[in-house]
Amino acid sequence: MQQLTTGARVRIINPMAPDFHRAGRVDAVHYAASDSPSYVVRPDGESYCRPYGGGELELLPPPTPAGPDTATTALLASAFKLAHMADAAAVRGADNTVRYLSGAPILDFDASETRALSERKAGTFYVTDGVHCTCPGAPHVWCKHRIAHRLQLAHLALRDPAELIRQIIAQTLPADADLVAMEDAEAVARVEALLRRPEVVPVDPADDDAAYAEALAGINALYA
Ligand SMILES: [Zn+2]
Repeated sequence: MQQLTTGARVRIINPMAPDFHRAGRVDAVHYAASDSPSYVVRPDGESYCRPYGGGELELLPPPTPAGPDTATTALLASAFKLAHMADAAAVRGADNTVRYLSGAPILDFDASETRALSERKAGTFYVTDGVHCTCPGAPHVWCKHRIAHRLQLAHLALRDPAELIRQIIAQTLPADADLVAMEDAEAVARVEALLRRPEVVPVDPADDDAAYAEALAGINALYA
């Protein structure tokens, strides 16, 4: 195995290890004079670290940046502020969220929700759908998680709408496994078909000649 540096993303591949197959990051590297280096790994979502000997870790590629970069985040946050210009708390929250995202927090985003690893409470994930959040800031209208989710949602809508639709389908129709596996174009076509409504039939009696005639006949009968 190639030598790893602190911060490298790895998967634990030692079947004897309790975190077998879990992903994490190298927290520390210990070099011994005659031996291969040993590593201390912090599994994803955990506050504790565990030592692992050489050869028991697999180097993972760096995660593909799912979220927007810093410049894009700032632009999206400006758009968010314009959309909530009269709301001072939203404007403050947007600035706070830009700072928060610049620290590369651990966020698990999909179109329906974001799971954010707490920066203070070890191993705790806060979940938000952009409207509600499970963090201690829940009673407030805004928190950085809710705004971060909205910014990521906007980013995905601008960058790859088909992927956004695919994620929404995957979240809203989990039982339809075939649909989830479809190519984007097929998924989009399916959504369009789902959204296409049958021709609207007027139900307002005022627009319905038969109902109107019936009502008129009833009124005439009263005065006959
Ligand atoms: Zn929150």
